[in-house]
Amino acid sequence: MGIVDTMIHEAKVHNAKKVKEIYLKIGEMSNIDSQILVGAIEDLKDPNLMDDLKVYATIEKNRFKCRNCGREWNFSEIEKNIEKINVDGDTPLHYLPDSAQIFIECPYCGSHEFDMYGETGVVIEKIVLEVNE
Ligand SMILES: [Zn+2]
Repeated sequence: MGIVDTMIHEAKVHNAKKVKEIYLKIGEMSNIDSQILVGAIEDLKDPNLMDDLKVYATIEKNRFKCRNCGREWNFSEIEKNIEKINVDGDTPLHYLPDSAQIFIECPYCGSHEFDMYGETGVVIEKIVLEVNE
């Protein structure tokens, strides 16, 4: 898993003996469940390097601004419209954040031309290491 690999890499680069904390930011529209993500990290973590690791995950809201009519909206306001085109319960955005322009339209004028703000996947904001003396 990329996040665990990144922690191992950072620990190596900085000659750290422990990874103490990791702070993650999850984009709202990624549909990633923070508890499942934290659980997956717990399952995959390195038992020596990360035995007392604390994982913090925050959800970042996604906002949109229409280029046609200039109005703004949140992902939560349009989420129910996207579910209509779900296939087998999976939001296409989950796999293809780049396809947002196809699946999302302005709730006011129907335009597909808009600017998107906020993370669409998972980003590591900060890793706290315990470094050797
Ligand atoms: Zn609009």
